[in-house]
Amino acid sequence: MSAARVPLTEEQRAYLQCAIQTRDGRRCFYCRRNFRRRPGRRKTLDHYIPHRLWPGWELDNLVLACERCNLAKADSLPWPLVWLLLAVHRPERWELAA
Ligand SMILES: [Zn+2]
Repeated sequence: MSAARVPLTEEQRAYLQCAIQTRDGRRCFYCRRNFRRRPGRRKTLDHYIPHRLWPGWELDNLVLACERCNLAKADSLPWPLVWLLLAVHRPERWELAA
């Protein structure tokens, strides 16, 4: 099992959640709802770029998400990232292979 596939311990998960909270606040990254005001809303660690594309537990690719948003996003790329990729890689810029 690669290091990226090893599940986090509770201590590692708590450390990452605390670091992300310090960076981003106590809000769901997607719906912006505050976890403090909604104690029943469970916060989860979400890979902004899906884990299958960027395996590992690096802070640069992690956000806090409520369970509902995390499940809705699932393994897809976030729309802002898709828009950015489409803006950079426009089909009219593509060249035909010889
Ligand atoms: Zn949310």
